[in-house]
Amino acid sequence: MVKAVRRIWPARKPSGTCVMQAIGDLSEKRAMAETKRRARGEDSIYYDRSRDRWTGTITVGWKPDGRRDRIIVRGRTKTEVKDKLRTKHQELAAGIRTTARYTVEQCLKDWLATLNTHAETTVTGYLIMARHLAGLIGNIKLVELKVRDVDFALGKLTEHLSTRSVRLARMILIQAIRNAMVNDLVVRNVADLAAVPTGKPGRPSRSLNLEQALAVLGQAESLGYQLGFQDLNKQQRQAYEQRKQWGLRVDLFEYQAKDLFAEYGVPVQPGKVAHTAEEARDIAAEFAADGHPLVVVKAQVKTGGRGKAGGVKLADGPDEAYAKASQILGMDIKGHTVHTVLIAQAVDIAAEYYLSFLLDRANRTFLSICSVQGGMEIEEVAHTDPDAVARIPVSPLTGVDAAKAAEIIAAGRIPAEAAEGAALLAGRLWAMFTDEDATLAEVNPIALTKDGQVLAVDGKVTLDDNAAFRQEHARFSDPGSTDPIEARAREKHLNYVKLDGEVGIIGNGAGLVMSTLDVVAQAGAPFGGIRPANFLDIGGGASAEVMANGLEIVLSDPGVRSVLVNVFGGITSCDAVASGIVSAIAMLTERGDQVDRPIVVRLDGNNAAEGRRILSDAAIGVVEQVGTMDGAARRAAELAAKGA
Ligand code: GDP
Ligand code: MN
Repeated sequence: MVKAVRRIWPARKPSGTCVMQAIGDLSEKRAMAETKRRARGEDSIYYDRSRDRWTGTITVGWKPDGRRDRIIVRGRTKTEVKDKLRTKHQELAAGIRTTARYTVEQCLKDWLATLNTHAETTVTGYLIMARHLAGLIGNIKLVELKVRDVDFALGKLTEHLSTRSVRLARMILIQAIRNAMVNDLVVRNVADLAAVPTGKPGRPSRSLNLEQALAVLGQAESLGYQLGFQDLNKQQRQAYEQRKQWGLRVDLFEYQAKDLFAEYGVPVQPGKVAHTAEEARDIAAEFAADGHPLVVVKAQVKTGGRGKAGGVKLADGPDEAYAKASQILGMDIKGHTVHTVLIAQAVDIAAEYYLSFLLDRANRTFLSICSVQGGMEIEEVAHTDPDAVARIPVSPLTGVDAAKAAEIIAAGRIPAEAAEGAALLAGRLWAMFTDEDATLAEVNPIALTKDGQVLAVDGKVTLDDNAAFRQEHARFSDPGSTDPIEARAREKHLNYVKLDGEVGIIGNGAGLVMSTLDVVAQAGAPFGGIRPANFLDIGGGASAEVMANGLEIVLSDPGVRSVLVNVFGGITSCDAVASGIVSAIAMLTERGDQVDRPIVVRLDGNNAAEGRRILSDAAIGVVEQVGTMDGAARRAAELAAKGA
């Protein structure tokens, strides 16, 4: 790691004295100073005409040859020289005497070199920021660095970075100077005194919508990445924060919720799922044969208000079920396309009530909400007549026994004729809620039928993904909405998210891949809106096999017209990645997979030159190398546009 950091640092100028050597020099000098007679510390300031500079000197002792040992400082103004002399006095008081030209740049480098225990992605982030800083104030001697220099640098950074990034820059500078202080190279941490100016608001991701961004973040997070918030817009950030804080949510479809209800004895009407209108008709025919010709056709989407949107319709008999299902299938309800419908035996409803259990985070307990005024207007009721909606805390220690269930039902003012059935339902719903590690179980409506039965007509359940280790949440996975390529990628343990563009993306590190998506989206705009086709992070290892699997997955997307492999060598050096690409393509060809689309490769970082040589030597027809990320993105977009 240390090696990598050193290597990718741009060769700005011949590097200064290394820390160890500087420290060696120091202790020698200090020892000397201590053995010699001390001067009275008298300063002299004069204008040096030959240099056109003000010059200040402090006598600190005598050299072995008997001459004065002086510290000399120079500046354009007398004040500047006085400033410098003051700093020197402070250093002398602290026992510091730097003769080496120890610059801010060197200070940053030395600090970076101490970071070998940090995650590679983190160090890469620090490195980039340290480079920004070095470009602005790298030449300044550390002992002469002033708060205003730091203010200037941070101010400059705000011109193109977010506040968060500027804060990171300041943190890096503080850490680096602290490291120098430990080594007696400076007495004061001026970065500590600099304020953080406000940067630009976070740069919104240009290439991902909310769901995609969250999917990407989820993948990355499961690998333990710390992602840059500057890549997200406000809405994405809030949703991400929420998920991070609350864990991932597993929302169930109504039919899945009702399957769970049935397992726990919460009464529900019989029903079956249909994907086509024909299936809907067949199910309705079955129910009709059982003596239940009246069915309800219900859109299965993970959002509420389906009834109001026309996604819940009664149907009398198979033909009507067919007609209603064809209306509802394909419908868009609040941005959710209906792929499936639930065909349930219709219930003759006399009254509708509301009941739910949820995690009450604010009060660190569970909560039950119950109301006699259930149905489609419950939100409205809660707003206009809050007293009609009872909120009853439920202790996790005692849960919901018969007495508690009765209390909840009474608080919701459920009438006597439904009270017993509703209390039973509440007890069973609570059992499901706790046993399945749910954070929400909602029944709206609980129906009281004309013949006096109480049952759950609708169900909404959210499971807590934090409990995934002890639950079988996989059974609720949503094969309809999971992309088949994503499913195969998951089997191969690849962090792949399908997007809908034309340029297949393979990169290492979630942050790099996210940036790559943005750069490709931008580069693709002039080529008729060419966009990234996927997110794929092959991670740190990037063995030939992982690369082969990655290429195979990306190429299996028929929408992909070109592939961009963007790798920044760190722990895995570029030569290893290059060899990986070469053998991956050989491996795929051997397997009989067509590697028939152009692959643009950009290698940078650790051992990039060697990696590039390996790739050129392999002379693979479809592989083309471009040195920069922007250039590679442009080329990949261009090739995708040609291939379309
Ligand atoms: P939501 O709008 O997404 O909450 O979907 P629901 O499943 O709650 O259905 C909405 C409304 O449709 C309910 O409040 C009921 O009024 C009505 N509904 C649903 N199922 C039936 C049924 O089997 N029979 C009757 N009569 N009405 C139903
Ligand atoms: Mn409902």
